[in-house]
Amino acid sequence: MANKWGIPKEVEEFVLRRDLFCVYCGVDFSINHQSRKTKPSWEHIVNDICISTINNIAIICTSCNASKGAKLLEDWLDGQYCKSKGITKETVAEVVKKAIMNPPSLT
Ligand SMILES: [Zn+2]
Repeated sequence: MANKWGIPKEVEEFVLRRDLFCVYCGVDFSINHQSRKTKPSWEHIVNDICISTINNIAIICTSCNASKGAKLLEDWLDGQYCKSKGITKETVAEVVKKAIMNPPSLT
């Protein structure tokens, strides 16, 4: 299936196997898939759709996606939504921590 975000198939398959939980809030997709708020959606950790590598593509829940929108990751982590959910740089998934320390880029 071609991904409408232009994500290469091998990246898509890798990320689908890796991210069984929202990389931000940790919601478990396998048991919460009935709720619309926790439906998985594609995320570019750094908001650049040109960077479609496994270090920048992740799966997040609809709720986090709606809240983050086009915000910068670090600004979003400081915002109200993350505070209310207890999401911090320490609680996010490994791929996000790596992106904070060493942001993915095209080069
Ligand atoms: Zn989430």
